[in-house]
Amino acid sequence: GFNCGIVGLPNVGKSTLFNALTKAGIAAENFPFCTIEPNTGIVPMPDPRLDALATIVKPERIIPTTMEFVDIAGLVAGASKGEGLGNQFLANIRETDAIAHVVRCFEDENVIHVAGRIDPLDDIATINTELALSDLDTVERALLRVSKSAKGGDKEAIILKNSLEKVLPLLNDGRPARAADLSDDDLKALKVYGLLTLKPTMYIANVNEDGFENNPHLDAVRQLAASENAIVVPICNKLEAEIAELEEDEKAEFLEAVGMDEPGLNRVIRAGYGLLGLHTYFTAGVKEVRAWTIPVGATAPQGAGKIHTDFEKGFIRAEVIAYDDYIQYKGEQGAKDAGKWRLEGKTYIMKDGDVVHFRFNV
Ligand code: GDP
Repeated sequence: GFNCGIVGLPNVGKSTLFNALTKAGIAAENFPFCTIEPNTGIVPMPDPRLDALATIVKPERIIPTTMEFVDIAGLVAGASKGEGLGNQFLANIRETDAIAHVVRCFEDENVIHVAGRIDPLDDIATINTELALSDLDTVERALLRVSKSAKGGDKEAIILKNSLEKVLPLLNDGRPARAADLSDDDLKALKVYGLLTLKPTMYIANVNEDGFENNPHLDAVRQLAASENAIVVPICNKLEAEIAELEEDEKAEFLEAVGMDEPGLNRVIRAGYGLLGLHTYFTAGVKEVRAWTIPVGATAPQGAGKIHTDFEKGFIRAEVIAYDDYIQYKGEQGAKDAGKWRLEGKTYIMKDGDVVHFRFNV
């Protein structure tokens, strides 16, 4: 699956967020066939379309798609120098697909700040500097290697060198590589290096309940994020932790009382999904109605491969009904009668919400 690493300085609300995510998540015993590390929370992707499909199909079970959150505690200044835990921290981030960087944007005299004052930009810089230093090391080594071949006229090396040189000055300044003006070709070239500061990043601005508006800390984070191709999700982690503790029926009541349509966590989960360029297709049968995650742009065989690798190899065709048609015509038969049932081949690019039946050879 896809995962998102939670990072941030101590005492900014990471554990509070992680616990809320885990409580809202799926219990480890529901994954008997895989080991789930204690620092990993598997959270269902909130998607009301699943329930709408289930109302029509009446399946035995409903299976949402999921997003994994990994609590990566322990970043200390000096991590990039490769000392003990710091090194481990960077290695953990390297394995994630995206970064959720929690930043303290709340005032509370009862909660100590490691630097003694609330300054989200300074906090962000502390972490980003470590990540940038690690990337700088990678980029400098890579440049040494490609420079020779580039001089010799090697075309690929010239392209690589050019892309590396675009991110070098930023990293030298302790800024993330994603803030550089990079073309798709640059991104493609740089992919092999797995740069930490090129990972899709969201800043989770942890605010107090009344801190969503007129909050200069939040505004500062928003401004920074805009300058470096990151996104911001403001949230009150403390409130989310309280919501996550509630039983389902209490939850609805509580949310209504505080004027929320849904837990704020949903925005974090959706942002992670968007950040990774993912979307969803559905399978709808009497056994189960299920959501599947695929990258935007995935073809039908690639989509099928999510269910089983054999489905991709032996792919024959996809029988597709768009979600809206499926709902409007009350299921497969209705959609067929209305001429909304399509056969799609190997080159078909899957669309968000497709309700699909794959045909394949084994
Ligand atoms: P971590 O070290 O980053 O994992 O931080 P924790 O999640 O342990 O939070 C540190 C302290 O801040 C705890 O006492 C939390 O209850 C408190 N805290 C977390 N989020 C909020 C918030 O949104 N508002 C306030 N006032 N306190 C919070």
